Amino acid sequence: MLVTLSEILKDANERHYAVGAFNCLSLENVMGAIEAAEELRSPIILQLAEVQFPEAPMEMMAPLYLEAAKRSSVPVCVHLDHGQSLETCVRAIRLGFTSVMFDGASLPFEENVDASKEVTRIAKAAGVDVEAELGRVGDSGVDTADVFTDVEESVRFVQETGIDALAVAIGNLHGHYVHTPQLNIQRLIEIHEANQLPLVLHGGSGTSVEDFKACIHNGICKINVATAIQRGIMKRINERLAQKPDEGYIPLKQVMIDASREVVTEHIRLFESDKRSPLLTPPLWGE
Ligand SMILES: [Zn+2]
Repeated sequence: MLVTLSEILKDANERHYAVGAFNCLSLENVMGAIEAAEELRSPIILQLAEVQFPEAPMEMMAPLYLEAAKRSSVPVCVHLDHGQSLETCVRAIRLGFTSVMFDGASLPFEENVDASKEVTRIAKAAGVDVEAELGRVGDSGVDTADVFTDVEESVRFVQETGIDALAVAIGNLHGHYVHTPQLNIQRLIEIHEANQLPLVLHGGSGTSVEDFKACIHNGICKINVATAIQRGIMKRINERLAQKPDEGYIPLKQVMIDASREVVTEHIRLFESDKRSPLLTPPLWGE
């Protein structure tokens, strides 16, 4: 069932678990992710980032995501990850995404407020929810000065923009970690105490189990996972080729679905979103 971001995060916020948001770049990737969510009766977010458009164009991915969501027996939110402009957010809204992230984190505070507020005003008119980011999430492998989300700024930002979910910077990094990052859980607790809305953790590939648990018990309701899925799929393909080097028929599609399902299953359990979904009856194919 297709739902919005605030609908899918409401229960997570009340009962202290997180819904995984998985960047899926292919049919197999989406099928495996949905299978995992249905098997574990977990809500799930399918998302695509603007930087991924060259390899997975949004206009091609949208029908796939939306059809998978509508046919699913669990709640599914279809979300634009890291929209870089109002124009991209509007494109996603027109395609039927139920939620968009506007990433103005690199802008000066006031400009981020103004731009996030404008995106929210337009998205709300279309019944679409908005995630925005405050503070800088670093990139793994790049030595960036960490700028954590400021607590007082977060309150002003949330109130002035009217967003539905806030992505925080607490030492988390995008990409594949060489060293496991140390998250500033104290800062997260302060942001959570000062704000009621669901918080989002970016850079969910490679965070330690302890940090994940501390996050979901202190206000993080959505965790983005991108790199771990693509690595998982690549690993399974390599293993399969090594096991059966002379195989005539290569079941690439099934290997990819299985790998996607495995990675998503592992994260759903870690985020404690399993057994949280009501039993929904999806329409039959062809209906
Ligand atoms: Zn991110």
